Amino acid sequence: MSEELKAAIVQDDATGRVLMLGWMDEEALALTRSSGLVHFFSRSRQRLWQKGETSGNVLHVVEVVLDCDADAVLVRATADGPTCHDGSTSCFTPWLWRTVLQRERAQSEDSYVVALLRDGPGRIARKVGEEAVELVVAALSEEDERVVSEAADLWFHTLVLLRSRGLDPAAVEDELRRRAISR
Ligand SMILES: [Zn+2]
Repeated sequence: MSEELKAAIVQDDATGRVLMLGWMDEEALALTRSSGLVHFFSRSRQRLWQKGETSGNVLHVVEVVLDCDADAVLVRATADGPTCHDGSTSCFTPWLWRTVLQRERAQSEDSYVVALLRDGPGRIARKVGEEAVELVVAALSEEDERVVSEAADLWFHTLVLLRSRGLDPAAVEDELRRRAISR
């Protein structure tokens, strides 16, 4: 069976973002086409599965395209909820965001991310304000190393603020892309 598997790339139809990579056998490909929901063949469990069958985060098929020699599949889809099991919009998530999610999930007592999230958006928003001012000061009067350090603080706290509001940085990217297109 496994020699017949095709790599299947799922791309968000609206944004073009690559959401995940899975594997499809003929049955998964046929079911994906006929049901309108993305199905894969799990190599680890050696069985067919429907994306979102337990989480409810299904992928609705917009278009299925085979590549030139028919051994890879591009699925354009719309996603119900986050595609990645870690809660991200995409499996191909920037390192810093993945780290924030991992810290939150681990819930360790000495984690700064966990402490911030417990305090909620009010405290985190204040931190973002402080870090923004510190970045401005550094940019105007301090050496490059300080500017980099303060920019890192601002980016980090901004991501935690998004998380505390239940938002994903992918939404920010989408907004920036939308503006770039409209200008
Ligand atoms: Zn994933």
